[in-house]
Amino acid sequence: MAKTLCKWRRNDIATDLKGLRKLVKKPTFVCLKCARVANEKKVLCSGSKLKKEA
Ligand SMILES: [Zn+2]
Repeated sequence: MAKTLCKWRRNDIATDLKGLRKLVKKPTFVCLKCARVANEKKVLCSGSKLKKEA
């Protein structure tokens, strides 16, 4: 996938829901700009580690 999750539009989500599910299933990163989450930093435009407060 060439573009980041942040660039996804509604159409893209519907088209590749399976892929999206995989990316956001157990998110470990959050995009500081878009508030999207993913488990791969490279799919976010400004990915940062999502810290879990225990
Ligand atoms: Zn972003």
